[in-house]
Amino acid sequence: MTESLPKVLLVNGVTMLLAYARAIEIEAAERYLELAEQMDVHNSPELANLFRKMAAAEQMHLSKVDNLVGTLKLPEILPWQYKWDTPEALETTAYDAIHYQMTPRCALQLALANEERAVAFFNEVVAQSSDSEARRIASELAAEEYLHVEIVRSWLDRFHESDFKEDLDNPVSQ
Ligand code: ZN
Repeated sequence: MTESLPKVLLVNGVTMLLAYARAIEIEAAERYLELAEQMDVHNSPELANLFRKMAAAEQMHLSKVDNLVGTLKLPEILPWQYKWDTPEALETTAYDAIHYQMTPRCALQLALANEERAVAFFNEVVAQSSDSEARRIASELAAEEYLHVEIVRSWLDRFHESDFKEDLDNPVSQ
């Protein structure tokens, strides 16, 4: 399920970048709200609160991106290229459990992996785009998503309980 990101090669210009950025922010906001509901169920109000804040942060990014989009017409993109991924390490234990028994640590690991994926995506654009404006926007987005990585990581440190038999300290091995 965890794809390396060859498709990033296709993201060169500003409109393609913005199309992905919008999709990534919308997806992240939706998934965070979903995780927040799971944490309500799990009776973890602190974490539910964190995820609602993260959803709000992603929505703020979205309006920022929408301002950049303005009247530009965005190209079509493919869902599998921006939908949240379940890291392989979490897949067997957690993927089917998303709607049933997502534990706090598992939820945080899922969020972390996908925030890291977003950072990697935007960094690839910075590294590979020939369009300087696209590179500039992508590097800003990468920096913002990296803040999310740090937030989620710091919360993960608070949830030490081992939900899984395997060591999942490094769920993303891209
Ligand atoms: Zn984010």
